[in-house]
Amino acid sequence: MIPFLDLKKINAPYEKELKNKFDSFLEKGWYILGNEVTAFQKEYAAYCGTQFCIGTANGLDALRLILEGYKILGKLQEGDEVLVASNTYIATIIGVKQAGLKPILVEANLDTFNFDYNDLEQKITSKTRVIMPTHLYGRLTDMDRVNAFAKAYNLLTVTDCAQSHGAITASGMRSGSLADASGHSFYPTKNLGALGDAGAITTNDKALAEVVEKYRNYGFKERYVAQYTGVNSRLDELQAAFLRIKLRDLDTQNSKRIAIAKQYLEGINNEHIILPQWSEGKDYVWHLFVVRCEQRDVLQEYLKANGIATIIHYPVPPHKQEALQVLGSMSLPVCEQLHSEVLSLPISPSLAKTEITQIIKAINDFKC
Ligand SMILES: *Cc1c(COP(=O)(O)O)cnc(C)c1O
Repeated sequence: MIPFLDLKKINAPYEKELKNKFDSFLEKGWYILGNEVTAFQKEYAAYCGTQFCIGTANGLDALRLILEGYKILGKLQEGDEVLVASNTYIATIIGVKQAGLKPILVEANLDTFNFDYNDLEQKITSKTRVIMPTHLYGRLTDMDRVNAFAKAYNLLTVTDCAQSHGAITASGMRSGSLADASGHSFYPTKNLGALGDAGAITTNDKALAEVVEKYRNYGFKERYVAQYTGVNSRLDELQAAFLRIKLRDLDTQNSKRIAIAKQYLEGINNEHIILPQWSEGKDYVWHLFVVRCEQRDVLQEYLKANGIATIIHYPVPPHKQEALQVLGSMSLPVCEQLHSEVLSLPISPSLAKTEITQIIKAINDFKC
């Protein structure tokens, strides 16, 4: 069986460095908010091209803390509306709700999986304060367009960069530097994955950086002196140490993903399969390689029978989730169509050449 993602294999090349890090970590005996967190924050900010990076416990908290931070700064208040992607991982929307704001779901585009920009004008109201796209599957949303829209309506821009580490625009700007603030997840399966939970916020907004840095640690402005009722959402010291090792190799790993995507796009040819669109840029770092197929479930069963594991990202759209019934009944036909047609093929940088050829052949032989 070709696994969808073999995390052990992904982390194997770093084994020696990771073990050395752990040894010195044990030797030092400093476990929370130490030099490794400080160094990772500095290095990841430099990598993204932002002035500030604040580590958090996970990606969901990174998104939520950005919004909580803006509330503390008086830029947002309870009940304000946030334009957010309907076609996203549920964490994006939970983050908005946890911050006491109202998610307004924007329809998706069939070809890019990201925002249908035409729907933005339909969804904006006098209460809209934030626009919050997700760079889904590792493809950057057109931020020139989003930022122009935000400027016209005086909105804050927040991006969910959990799947797009290292993606770079044609003009050389990195994912995480294209909005007022960005949330990142380093969940183990992400392009930059820790060996446990981890996340971060990147921004050029000094006031926001100062607030969230305190907020993630109980709101302490100094030890045991709380300025806000914050949360405990610190980036773990050991995960920060591991992330520093893996960050150095991120561009190489992303290049491998891009090369596999290219092989799929050139090799797969089947009338039942719709391939993702791509124009050769580095603005798509292929966190996932997602095809569409009307007979998606049949395709998935067929690939399984042929020794290829796939995953559906995601089977239930957020607005159809039991947990989000409060959003009410909404008409998002494109988003729903995507959820019924998408299937993610393995695109791990650790895939062998023979495995890639085997996947391409199996898909080309698929009949329904
Ligand atoms: C993974 C992910 C998150 C949440 O990250 P966690 O670290 O699991 O909290 C948020 N948004 C998107 C798009 C993701 O893929």
